[in-house]
Amino acid sequence: MKEVLNYIFRPSTRNPEAVKMAYFGSLRPTHFVMAISFIMAAIFLVLSFVRPDMFGTSSYYHKYCYLALFLIVLVWSAVARYSVMDYDSRYKSFFFINTMAAVTLYLWVVSLTVVSTLSRNTVDTTLFMTVSLIVPLCIYFNPLEYLITVIPANGFMVVLLYYCAKGGITDTSSIINFAVFAVFQITMGIIMLYTKYRLNKSIAMAKKQHDEIEMLNKAQNSFFSNMSHEIRTPINTIIGLNEMILREDVSEEVIEDAVNIKAAGKLLLNLINDILDMSKFQSGRMQLLIEPYHTGDMLSDIVGMLWIRAKDKKLDFNVDVSPDIPAELIGDEVRIKQILINVINNAIKYTSEGSVSLSVQCEMREDKTCNMVYMVSDTGIGIKSEDIPYLFSAFKRVDESVNRHIEGTGLGLSIVKQLVDLMGGKITVNSVYKKGSTFIIEIPQRVERDGAVGQYDFGKAGSTGRKKEYIPRFEAPEARILVVDDNEANLMVVSKLLRDTKVRIDTASSGNDALRKTLNIKYDAIFMDHLMPEMDGIECRRKIKEQTGGRCRETSIVILTANADEENRALYARENFDGYLTKPVSGEELENELYNLLPKEIVHITGTRSEIAEESVSWMNSSNKRKSVVITTESVADLTPDVAQKYGIAILPHKVKTAEGMFKDGKEIETLGVLKYMENPNNTIMPQGPSVKEAEEFFAKQLSYANNIIHISISSKVENSGYQPALEAARSFDNVFVIDSSHLSSGQGLLALEAARLAESGMSTEKIIEQLEVIKKKIRTSFIVDNLDFLARAGQVGTGIANVVKSLMGRPVLVLRKGKMGVGMTYFGSRERAWKAYINTTLSTPGNIDTRVLFVTYVGLTKRDTDWIREQIEKRMKFDEIYFKQASPAISVNCGSGTFGLLFKVK
Ligand code: ADP
Repeated sequence: MKEVLNYIFRPSTRNPEAVKMAYFGSLRPTHFVMAISFIMAAIFLVLSFVRPDMFGTSSYYHKYCYLALFLIVLVWSAVARYSVMDYDSRYKSFFFINTMAAVTLYLWVVSLTVVSTLSRNTVDTTLFMTVSLIVPLCIYFNPLEYLITVIPANGFMVVLLYYCAKGGITDTSSIINFAVFAVFQITMGIIMLYTKYRLNKSIAMAKKQHDEIEMLNKAQNSFFSNMSHEIRTPINTIIGLNEMILREDVSEEVIEDAVNIKAAGKLLLNLINDILDMSKFQSGRMQLLIEPYHTGDMLSDIVGMLWIRAKDKKLDFNVDVSPDIPAELIGDEVRIKQILINVINNAIKYTSEGSVSLSVQCEMREDKTCNMVYMVSDTGIGIKSEDIPYLFSAFKRVDESVNRHIEGTGLGLSIVKQLVDLMGGKITVNSVYKKGSTFIIEIPQRVERDGAVGQYDFGKAGSTGRKKEYIPRFEAPEARILVVDDNEANLMVVSKLLRDTKVRIDTASSGNDALRKTLNIKYDAIFMDHLMPEMDGIECRRKIKEQTGGRCRETSIVILTANADEENRALYARENFDGYLTKPVSGEELENELYNLLPKEIVHITGTRSEIAEESVSWMNSSNKRKSVVITTESVADLTPDVAQKYGIAILPHKVKTAEGMFKDGKEIETLGVLKYMENPNNTIMPQGPSVKEAEEFFAKQLSYANNIIHISISSKVENSGYQPALEAARSFDNVFVIDSSHLSSGQGLLALEAARLAESGMSTEKIIEQLEVIKKKIRTSFIVDNLDFLARAGQVGTGIANVVKSLMGRPVLVLRKGKMGVGMTYFGSRERAWKAYINTTLSTPGNIDTRVLFVTYVGLTKRDTDWIREQIEKRMKFDEIYFKQASPAISVNCGSGTFGLLFKVK
């Protein structure tokens, strides 16, 4: 009760946002009730005019009361509905209007009741009660307001009734009526209170749960990051000391064990990194560290890291980097590397023979950004199309029966996808099961400065290979360095890993210890741990730099830490550390870092890592750039080969089935052959669309030239349409889009042509698809045929209709409407007459026709016929280009000789 009372007098302050939402949600019911009130007021108003007897002597009073009520409700609803449209002001005005409406309604009804009582000497509570029914709905979510308006209004009515009863001008039935109504109002108030109380309670509960989840999330996060830190430290020891074993002259067996320990250590480390990343994503704490980076260096690091793995598996590793990609970009280099390493690693992991290829391109945008497109293809086991939707789910490994023996957790691609999303990019996959997969990653990046990467020598830059025998990169016996870490094992690992460089290494196990040493000794470099008791690495660095009389105020200090996330990376950068190394650290990393820090005059180069076997990496700086989108269509689109070639449209053949077998449209069977064969009425010939498998193979091939495919299919509504198989095949790919052209023959071809023009103009795939939906409605496809015999033979029209048309010497026009083939006009008389009429009618609105292209597609016509047709068309109107094309066999089967069609686009 205390809570309820507390609530009544402090309404909606606890979570104004939630109440606002609830209130806004109640607008619909409010409108509904308003509509009912409106109708009721209208009915009563009409009744008071039509059946005044129902209202007795007070009908006059009722008339005006209901008219006023009617108008109030009308104005109120209209204002509420149309006044303000945006969410915030609408909520505020609603609140205001409703409150005002409630108050004015009461004022109005109470004064009317008083006036009527005085003038007619009797109390009429009906109107008061009618109005009181509406009021609670006006202020449904504010019980306090309800109480404030209801109590005085009802109080006033009680007083009025009391005086009237005393003066004898009311009867008991009015009092009882009012009493019943008062109970109703009170109940209504209680319901309102209770509803709001419940609402607030659930809001409070939700908030509590939210806070708890937040707290748990925080706890989980700090657990993961602590765990990661704690595990990294012993792994550092294991991997570091193991590396020392590998450098020693020990037996083959020991080497084998050490190699296995190294692999297991790396796996464990990857797992920790993945879990840490996942936990960051889950808590929404994953952040990117955006900095300028050198594109070429980044790519060569990746290749340097991975080619050896491909080589181990005897796979070809192809790299194809477009020379025009910007040399310097701005983005999170480390995360992009992580994405690519993950995907290329998978490609190597899931491929047992053939090749793995990385292709890198960029699409420049206007505002100093570019869309980097990385494509990783392999000839491996592929992914079943039904598994593709689950590929990016965490812990999901697809096709487990096949790749159970391959190490993995199923976390990698999930992290990759989340990272790509975070960068505003996209990742898609095309895969043909058992044949191979292609992952396409698009990441928008800002361009740091103009200048292309050019023919970058990736083999040279930053590549690190596995050496048969360990040789330190340099020796520097005069150099002296300090390593600071509270963990003795870590100190030992760093010392041992750098032993062969002959650098003199001092160690300090605390900040204070370090400060004591830096006071007297001048070090050439310092490696500093971060988390140490008493004084951490950051504080220690500051003190060294400010140390009065200290000899290391100018010395470079590198952080060497188990904190491997971006937040810390950014922190160390802010704290001006001269370098950043994460544990577990390799000897090579330490050497490289030290090499950069030491004065060159005391460093003697002993070995170099440039002995990387270049032969395994084939750098093909491609001259023919991949397209962003390629347009494909089917042979039935009747595009002339030169048009298809000019616009780079690839053609998927349909087939025709005869008693002799199945033939590919245009490739294995020609139209004239089909017509000859069809001369024998006993011969049947059936056009057929491509199979799903054929379409799949066709798309897979096209995707080696382009990142996306827009496939323009024949209308899905015609018999043997290629639409369904193409659509099904497209499911195996993420970036094949099948468009139902709603046309056939050159109508479909025209749409493909338009698509190719849009693609050439550099329009994005999504935009082209959008545009094509508009264009396809503007294409006109029709054919005039000699008779319907062929269509009847193919079962497309009834034999009855075909015979009637033929006996009347009619030449029907077949028209595509909404994708369906139908019979339009029929012309009678000689061929010439009918054809002329067809040309003139079809081209009757020259101003409305796009005059760039006209396709004349025909079946079994002579050169004389086509010349005559051209002449007739040119008499009628001028087109920039008119393409005459013999229809494909599959189309000819339906139409037969003596057919031609005019296919064009309207404006
Ligand atoms: P995992 O650690 O299992 O490799 P990922 O998240 O990296 O986890 O990949 C998820 C699943 O996707 C893998 O288990 C594998 O079945 C499949 N997969 C990923 N890349 C490829 C590829 N290039 N070829 C075939 N299958 C792949």
